[in-house]
Amino acid sequence: MKQRKLQSLGQGKPQLITKAVTHIQLIEVNPGKLAALDALAPVFLSLCQQYVTFFCTEQQPDKFHPPVFRTLLSERWHRVAIQQAAGIAQSWRTNREQAHQDYLEELEAYQEQQADATQSLQAQEPVWKEWDVPTLQQTCIQANANVVLLEPSQDSTFDYWLKISTLESRQVLLVPVKLAAYHRQVLKGKIINTSVTLNKRNTGWWVTLSYDEVVPIQTAPSAPVVGVDVGIANFLTTSTGKHYGTFHGKMRERQKRDREKRRRKAKLRKCLEKKGVKKLPSTSSKSGQRLIRHVRQEINRAVNECFAEHLDVQFAYEQLSVATMKHKARAMNAYMRASNLAYSSQECSVCHYPDRANRPDQQTFCCLVCGFQTHADLNAATNIERRVGDMELRACKVRKEVKALLLSRHQIWKQQNGWP
Ligand SMILES: [Zn+2]
Repeated sequence: MKQRKLQSLGQGKPQLITKAVTHIQLIEVNPGKLAALDALAPVFLSLCQQYVTFFCTEQQPDKFHPPVFRTLLSERWHRVAIQQAAGIAQSWRTNREQAHQDYLEELEAYQEQQADATQSLQAQEPVWKEWDVPTLQQTCIQANANVVLLEPSQDSTFDYWLKISTLESRQVLLVPVKLAAYHRQVLKGKIINTSVTLNKRNTGWWVTLSYDEVVPIQTAPSAPVVGVDVGIANFLTTSTGKHYGTFHGKMRERQKRDREKRRRKAKLRKCLEKKGVKKLPSTSSKSGQRLIRHVRQEINRAVNECFAEHLDVQFAYEQLSVATMKHKARAMNAYMRASNLAYSSQECSVCHYPDRANRPDQQTFCCLVCGFQTHADLNAATNIERRVGDMELRACKVRKEVKALLLSRHQIWKQQNGWP
């Protein structure tokens, strides 16, 4: 069971979650029963791939795009392929756009540090590497009722029948579906969505069913707002002054070791390359991947703990949504980006003066102008909390605009408080 959709929190609309029921195997009552499905799969997949490439490179993804490629599939199956490809291309485009945005922000921060000479010696200019168009590798068919119909079985031996249209016109494949006890338990009283997903693995064909669940809003719009700062030293710091999770200690050590290991490997590669070795050892490491997984788990834990302790509040956070962070777990990126969160860690929460020098070290915030001093994360969380309803600030598109706005607010603060 996995959660697929989670709408943004606190928008006043009830949230709709699509829950998937996976691991239902299609039963092959007699050998060769699923041959028609096996024959359809590669034709479907190659058509779907054509549209994925098309929607990633030539046209905006459009589920209702008129057919442009030839195929043996029926018109209905053709439509299903277009729809599935549009979905894949859309999320590819969104993720690519987000990654590119991250890159631009990192680049801007890098150039800024270069300009004011605060750059560390090891700092390297970020490089953008264009993404490859996704390749469909596993057989996955997201079908709708036009081509795959799920019908309750009258017979007690099976729970459902799947009626699958095949490559042969008017030939329908009838496959029995038998649910496990826990599947039945989960689906009890639910309205199953008409779209089903078919997956082919080595072990045969599997079907995924899904249903929608409306989640009532648990937080009143008037509930107090708590700001959350996302950082490295502390994954989460709330404006109520609590910390959750940290990247220090053991994890930090592991990360350092991993980085060293990768560097050594990269050196070795270079060396072998010069000597004309064709097959080079990979620079990615098992321990590195384990580390990433571990960091994700730690962040999830921090998020859950923080949620559990703040049941009746609305959370305010910048740029990255906690839901996305939790579920898509682009966690490594999240904390990289967090360091760039438009000056929320550099801005003085009293006089608005934004300056990197306001933070003499990771933990301390000390304003160069007004002298306000506090824990650095608490200062950032306070800023983020205040930015919730700050439309002027939210309208800023790039870091430069944020900085200009904060400086103008700082001037106003100075005038109002009788500074020269
Ligand atoms: Zn200040």
